Amino acid sequence: MVDVSGFLVAAAHLFLGAVCAVCGAPGWGACTACRSVIQGAVPHEVYRPGLNVPLIAANDYRPQVEKLVPAFKDDGALQLAPLLSRRLATAVSCLDAPGGARLVPVPSLASAVRRRGLDHGAMLAASAARHLNMQWRAELRGDLRGLDQRSLSAAGRQLNVHGTMRARRLSGAVVIVDDVCTTGASLAEAARALEMAGACVVGAAVIGDADRHCATPSTDFHPGRPVS
Ligand SMILES: [Zn+2]
Repeated sequence: MVDVSGFLVAAAHLFLGAVCAVCGAPGWGACTACRSVIQGAVPHEVYRPGLNVPLIAANDYRPQVEKLVPAFKDDGALQLAPLLSRRLATAVSCLDAPGGARLVPVPSLASAVRRRGLDHGAMLAASAARHLNMQWRAELRGDLRGLDQRSLSAAGRQLNVHGTMRARRLSGAVVIVDDVCTTGASLAEAARALEMAGACVVGAAVIGDADRHCATPSTDFHPGRPVS
């Protein structure tokens, strides 16, 4: 049988210069070898001080996700959306959320959405929800204009984001989703705002865990199956 996908990747590499965002080999977003490694990772539970709900990461941040997420968000590699959203869905599936639970993305910086022309966080949440046959809704609003966390410590980030998110009155179970967890400050603030609004926060799920050293085993954790 003719390998059509392999032919398309080779053609994209030849005519468009398409390379894997991780290793630079020919690939449409990510090469076959890197996709295999990314999809084969076993999700793990993550602990972050100040976050009082279970948090699951599908992958370590390094070495793959740290290349994929910026390529997707900042370099226009939207062809990575299916791979990334499946990993997010796999992390969500580990939480055993009750029927009717919906995904709620951490709100993106308004300035970043304007610059990129797209809300990538909402895009991933919507796609992950489709994989899982769940609903999603952008319940959270953030007063996040100009709020850049990158230069701050963990404690500084928690102080910086506290009180910045809000949601209208709501009920039912929700799962918070985001692309990457660093200190967990944004996830903790999202959980606080959703609980204040009346939601039952079942847990949180991310694609990449930027600090694996904070991981801790739990007897309640059930590794989910990769979402295909
Ligand atoms: Zn690769």
